[in-house]
Amino acid sequence: MQPAALPQDLHIHSTWSDSDGAIVPEQTIALIAAIKHAHICGISDHFEMIVDHFDDYRAAVAAHGLLIGMEVNGHEWVPLALEADCDYRIFHCYNRDADYQALEQLLADDRPVIVAHPNALDTNLARVPPECLVEINNRYIWRCDWRAFYGPYRERFRFVISSDAHQPNWLNQTVARHVAASLQISETLLFDR
Ligand SMILES: [Zn+2]
Ligand SMILES: [Zn+2]
Repeated sequence: MQPAALPQDLHIHSTWSDSDGAIVPEQTIALIAAIKHAHICGISDHFEMIVDHFDDYRAAVAAHGLLIGMEVNGHEWVPLALEADCDYRIFHCYNRDADYQALEQLLADDRPVIVAHPNALDTNLARVPPECLVEINNRYIWRCDWRAFYGPYRERFRFVISSDAHQPNWLNQTVARHVAASLQISETLLFDR
Protein backbone atom coordinates (compact mmCIF):
# COMPACT_ATOMS: atom_id res chain seq x y z
CA MET A 1 0.00 0.00 0.00
CA GLN A 2 1.41 3.38 -0.98
CA PRO A 3 1.21 5.92 1.80
CA ALA A 4 -1.03 8.91 1.39
CA ALA A 5 1.11 11.75 0.16
CA LEU A 6 1.38 15.01 2.02
CA PRO A 7 -0.56 17.83 0.34
CA GLN A 8 2.51 20.02 -0.12
CA ASP A 9 6.19 20.36 0.68
CA LEU A 10 8.07 23.27 -0.85
CA HIS A 11 11.01 23.48 1.55
CA ILE A 12 13.36 20.63 0.70
CA HIS A 13 17.13 20.75 0.32
CA SER A 14 19.19 18.52 -1.90
CA THR A 15 22.86 17.81 -2.53
CA TRP A 16 22.92 21.12 -4.43
CA SER A 17 23.15 22.75 -0.98
CA ASP A 18 26.65 21.36 -0.93
CA SER A 19 28.15 23.38 1.91
CA ASP A 20 25.23 22.79 4.28
CA GLY A 21 26.64 20.33 6.82
CA ALA A 22 23.26 18.73 7.48
CA ILE A 23 22.95 17.47 3.88
CA VAL A 24 23.88 13.85 3.24
CA PRO A 25 25.11 12.57 -0.14
CA GLU A 26 21.98 10.45 -0.56
CA GLN A 27 19.71 13.52 -0.51
CA THR A 28 19.58 13.75 -4.29
CA ILE A 29 16.83 15.35 -6.31
CA ALA A 30 16.30 11.96 -7.95
CA LEU A 31 15.60 10.27 -4.62
CA ILE A 32 13.31 13.06 -3.43
CA ALA A 33 11.38 12.83 -6.69
CA ALA A 34 11.18 9.05 -6.46
CA ILE A 35 9.84 9.10 -2.89
CA LYS A 36 6.96 11.37 -3.96
CA HIS A 37 6.09 12.17 -0.37
CA ALA A 38 4.03 15.24 -1.33
CA HIS A 39 1.58 16.05 -4.12
CA ILE A 40 2.94 19.58 -4.52
CA CYS A 41 6.67 19.23 -4.20
CA GLY A 42 9.49 21.72 -4.69
CA ILE A 43 13.22 21.95 -4.11
CA SER A 44 14.50 25.05 -2.31
CA ASP A 45 18.26 24.90 -2.04
CA HIS A 46 20.26 27.69 -0.43
CA PHE A 47 20.55 30.41 -3.02
CA GLU A 48 24.13 31.31 -2.11
CA MET A 49 25.16 27.70 -2.86
CA ILE A 50 23.44 27.50 -6.27
CA VAL A 51 23.81 31.03 -7.58
CA ASP A 52 26.98 30.29 -9.54
CA HIS A 53 25.32 27.47 -11.47
CA PHE A 54 21.68 28.38 -11.17
CA ASP A 55 20.71 27.33 -14.70
CA ASP A 56 22.03 23.82 -14.09
CA TYR A 57 20.17 23.64 -10.77
CA ARG A 58 16.99 24.85 -12.40
CA ALA A 59 17.28 22.25 -15.16
CA ALA A 60 17.97 19.44 -12.68
CA VAL A 61 14.89 20.27 -10.60
CA ALA A 62 12.70 20.70 -13.67
CA ALA A 63 13.93 17.41 -15.15
CA HIS A 64 12.38 15.62 -12.17
CA GLY A 65 9.07 17.43 -12.49
CA LEU A 66 9.51 19.35 -9.25
CA LEU A 67 8.83 23.00 -8.58
CA ILE A 68 11.82 25.30 -8.61
CA GLY A 69 12.44 27.18 -5.42
CA MET A 70 15.33 28.72 -3.52
CA GLU A 71 16.04 29.76 0.04
CA VAL A 72 17.38 33.30 0.18
CA ASN A 73 19.46 34.29 3.19
CA GLY A 74 18.60 37.90 3.97
CA HIS A 75 18.38 41.09 1.92
CA GLU A 76 22.01 40.87 0.76
CA TRP A 77 21.08 38.14 -1.70
CA VAL A 78 17.81 39.58 -2.96
CA PRO A 79 19.11 41.53 -6.00
CA LEU A 80 20.72 38.39 -7.44
CA ALA A 81 17.82 36.18 -6.41
CA LEU A 82 15.45 38.40 -8.36
CA GLU A 83 17.47 37.69 -11.49
CA ALA A 84 17.12 33.94 -11.05
CA ASP A 85 13.96 32.53 -12.59
CA CYS A 86 12.03 30.24 -10.25
CA ASP A 87 8.52 29.24 -9.21
CA TYR A 88 8.67 30.57 -5.64
CA ARG A 89 11.11 31.93 -3.08
CA ILE A 90 11.68 31.17 0.58
CA PHE A 91 13.27 34.01 2.52
CA HIS A 92 15.28 34.18 5.74
CA CYS A 93 13.85 37.37 7.18
CA TYR A 94 16.12 38.40 10.03
CA ASN A 95 14.91 41.13 12.34
CA ARG A 96 16.50 43.92 10.28
CA ASP A 97 14.85 46.84 8.51
CA ALA A 98 16.48 45.90 5.21
CA ASP A 99 15.07 42.39 5.38
CA TYR A 100 11.49 43.61 5.84
CA GLN A 101 12.05 45.98 2.90
CA ALA A 102 13.46 43.10 0.85
CA LEU A 103 10.17 41.25 1.31
CA GLU A 104 8.45 44.07 -0.59
CA GLN A 105 10.96 43.73 -3.44
CA LEU A 106 10.43 39.99 -3.59
CA LEU A 107 6.64 40.38 -3.61
CA ALA A 108 6.89 42.81 -6.52
CA ASP A 109 8.32 39.98 -8.62
CA ASP A 110 4.92 38.30 -8.50
CA ARG A 111 6.05 34.89 -7.31
CA PRO A 112 5.01 33.41 -3.97
CA VAL A 113 7.17 34.62 -1.09
CA ILE A 114 7.40 32.26 1.87
CA VAL A 115 8.84 33.56 5.15
CA ALA A 116 11.03 30.70 6.37
CA HIS A 117 10.78 29.45 9.97
CA PRO A 118 10.26 32.95 11.49
CA ASN A 119 10.48 31.55 15.01
CA ALA A 120 14.08 30.43 14.38
CA LEU A 121 15.20 33.81 13.01
CA ASP A 122 13.50 36.18 15.41
CA THR A 123 11.38 37.55 12.58
CA ASN A 124 8.83 40.07 13.81
CA LEU A 125 5.69 38.90 12.04
CA ALA A 126 4.00 42.24 12.75
CA ARG A 127 6.45 43.78 10.23
CA VAL A 128 5.94 41.16 7.52
CA PRO A 129 3.61 42.22 4.68
CA PRO A 130 0.40 40.17 4.79
CA GLU A 131 0.87 39.14 1.14
CA CYS A 132 3.74 36.89 2.24
CA LEU A 133 3.09 33.29 3.15
CA VAL A 134 4.35 32.19 6.53
CA GLU A 135 5.93 28.81 7.03
CA ILE A 136 5.23 26.28 9.73
CA ASN A 137 8.47 24.34 9.53
CA ASN A 138 8.91 20.80 10.81
CA ARG A 139 12.59 21.34 11.62
CA TYR A 140 12.09 24.29 13.94
CA ILE A 141 8.45 24.64 14.94
CA TRP A 142 8.72 22.48 18.03
CA ARG A 143 11.55 24.62 19.42
CA CYS A 144 9.30 27.51 20.33
CA ASP A 145 6.11 28.39 22.08
CA TRP A 146 4.28 28.15 18.78
CA ARG A 147 0.89 28.98 20.25
CA ALA A 148 2.19 32.33 21.45
CA PHE A 149 4.38 32.99 18.40
CA TYR A 150 1.97 32.14 15.58
CA GLY A 151 -1.41 32.32 17.27
CA PRO A 152 -1.84 36.11 17.04
CA TYR A 153 -1.16 36.01 13.27
CA ARG A 154 -3.59 33.28 12.25
CA GLU A 155 -5.83 35.81 10.50
CA ARG A 156 -3.08 38.03 9.09
CA PHE A 157 -1.33 35.47 6.90
CA ARG A 158 -1.78 32.46 4.69
CA PHE A 159 0.46 29.58 5.78
CA VAL A 160 2.44 26.76 4.22
CA ILE A 161 3.69 23.66 6.00
CA SER A 162 7.18 22.40 5.17
CA SER A 163 9.62 19.68 6.09
CA ASP A 164 12.88 21.63 5.53
CA ALA A 165 14.29 18.17 4.84
CA HIS A 166 18.07 17.83 4.52
CA GLN A 167 18.15 14.04 4.74
CA PRO A 168 15.80 11.41 3.34
CA ASN A 169 14.52 10.42 6.76
CA TRP A 170 13.37 13.99 7.35
CA LEU A 171 10.76 13.27 4.70
CA ASN A 172 9.22 10.98 7.29
CA GLN A 173 8.20 7.33 7.15
CA THR A 174 7.61 7.89 3.47
CA VAL A 175 11.18 6.75 2.68
CA ALA A 176 10.71 3.40 4.36
CA ARG A 177 7.32 3.11 2.69
CA HIS A 178 8.77 3.95 -0.69
CA VAL A 179 11.34 1.17 -0.30
CA ALA A 180 8.74 -1.34 0.87
CA ALA A 181 6.49 -0.48 -2.06
CA SER A 182 9.39 -0.79 -4.50
CA LEU A 183 10.16 -4.25 -3.10
CA GLN A 184 6.47 -5.12 -3.22
CA ILE A 185 6.53 -5.74 0.50
CA SER A 186 3.25 -5.00 2.17
CA GLU A 187 3.30 -3.92 5.76
CA THR A 188 1.76 -6.08 8.45
CA LEU A 189 -0.62 -3.98 10.49
CA LEU A 190 -0.59 -5.44 13.98
CA PHE A 191 -3.58 -3.75 15.45
CA ASP A 192 -6.97 -2.99 14.06
CA ARG A 193 -7.96 0.45 15.26
ZN1 LIG B 1 16.32 28.13 6.59
ZN1 LIG C 1 16.01 25.34 4.56
